[in-house]
Amino acid sequence: MNTINLFSLVGKKAFITGGAQGIGKSAALAFADAGADVAIVDVDMGKAEGTAAELRAKGVRSMAVRCDVTDPADVDSMVGRVVEEFGTIDIAFNNAGICVNESAETMSFESWKRVLDINLTGIFLTARAAGRVMIAKGSGSIINTASMSGHIVNQPQPQCAYNASKAGVILLTKSLAVEWAHFGVRVNSISPGYIGTAMTLKASQWIPSWEAATPQRRMGKPEELVSALIYLAADSSGFTTGTDLVIDGGFTCV
Ligand code: NDP
Repeated sequence: MNTINLFSLVGKKAFITGGAQGIGKSAALAFADAGADVAIVDVDMGKAEGTAAELRAKGVRSMAVRCDVTDPADVDSMVGRVVEEFGTIDIAFNNAGICVNESAETMSFESWKRVLDINLTGIFLTARAAGRVMIAKGSGSIINTASMSGHIVNQPQPQCAYNASKAGVILLTKSLAVEWAHFGVRVNSISPGYIGTAMTLKASQWIPSWEAATPQRRMGKPEELVSALIYLAADSSGFTTGTDLVIDGGFTCV
């Protein structure tokens, strides 16, 4: 094996949900740098088109697709469009997610359901649609964004729906990995700690306590996740499936 090419994604076709900004956008730029064609999938078409245009300006083949990951018809049609444009799908990064900070005793049913629908059902729907394409050709890598919140309970902010959804993502990932291993389809997840994106920066009142609770005493940057994502996406991680990579500055060690 040529070690220089261990992290090559040349010729690979990828889509990234929640790809317009934050962690998804960083992954899009990195996958493209590693040689992949990348479809940017998001609910906000304006933002998604902006990110896809940024990639195209670098000479990368990229498209934007509007898709609400909670809608099965939307998801199937998004996967159909990516296959139509790129010919196939090798990498699915199922990353769209939201967080709601509400106390359990006052949380509305709608809030609970929305978080579970986007963060867990959305991952099932996009993994199922991409998985069907990958199973048919006998290869593919699916990466789901879980969170350290699937392992621990964050403080001081209340977020029971988020934590439960992310714990679900970790075991959904392992379940799909086992079901689809014999088809040549790998399924893994990442569990980031606090990362500076729109999701966390809007909750700035809690940042000092998050940093104090992290052994590295800081939040991570989206770019600090991309080497792990490229590893999971690349063929060189061929024996890695059902794994959850925790990337959290040491948060879950203490
Ligand atoms: P951002 O809010 O920056 O990005 C999330 C993206 O997902 C947005 O573009 C958002 O669009 C999109 N999105 C939301 N709902 C849907 C939907 N129904 N269908 C399609 N797209 C949707 O967050 P991050 O980049 O920080 O988060 C990415 C993932 O990483 C999430 O799953 C999050 O839970 C996870 N994560 C984040 C951590 C962090 O500290 N930031 C830590 C651990 C995990 P719009 O803005 O228009 O709603």
